[in-house]
Amino acid sequence: MSFRATVLTLYPDMFPGHLGHSLAGRALERGDALIEPVNIRDYATDKHRSVDDTPAGGGAGMVLKPDVLAACIDAVSPAGDTRPRLLMSPRGRPLTQSRVRELAAGPGVVIICGRFEGVDQRVIEARNLEEVSIGDYVLSGGEPAALTLLDAVIRVLPGVMGNAESGTQESFETGQLEHPHYTRPQVFEGREIPEVLTSGNHKAIESWRQAQSLQLTRERRPDLLESDDSA
Ligand code: SAH
Repeated sequence: MSFRATVLTLYPDMFPGHLGHSLAGRALERGDALIEPVNIRDYATDKHRSVDDTPAGGGAGMVLKPDVLAACIDAVSPAGDTRPRLLMSPRGRPLTQSRVRELAAGPGVVIICGRFEGVDQRVIEARNLEEVSIGDYVLSGGEPAALTLLDAVIRVLPGVMGNAESGTQESFETGQLEHPHYTRPQVFEGREIPEVLTSGNHKAIESWRQAQSLQLTRERRPDLLESDDSA
């Protein structure tokens, strides 16, 4: 069964974007994952095909209309569709690797990409949308956020990454940041590969990596050591 992502957007041409290349591109070609962009504008009902209107209460920008968005959601995700409905939003719960794993274990996702100031609050409530943020900064639209989420999900689908182990050792999978990497040449601009890595002593290599990982996490992301949300 393949992972099916339906993406509601005003810019369907942005999909599959970079996901058409490399690892994710091959997963899409094989049909392990499907990305179906849907143009929200196709569900507009007036003659101008409008999808947005001015904010109630005044202020700058425009707001996506709840009726148009609800019609689009109902058409692509009828009752009985068990996929979670995600609304990309800076107000959402920050995306973590553990949520990525959960999503990858499910049947797929319905993703709504906001634009302008965002979407009418009533459709978030009425259609039970889960707001998801990709970080504490503001993008001009939800599309790059959706592509980011799908990138993270597709790469952990079974069979997508050649070497299964390289997935589970990664940053956040262990609750810590990953250790540094090196490859040939042995000397680069006077800098050597740390000796332990060429020693052939696998136990020593493993404990060096663990120590590096812990040190990096302490320095850069002490919050990860306090929370268990990243496992
Ligand atoms: N007025 C909103 C920002 C709207 S940005 C606010 O202050 O909260 C326009 C759209 O870009 C949003 O609806 C959302 O879909 C997307 N977006 C912006 N930043 C994002 C982020 N950090 N994570 C996920 N989606 C984001």
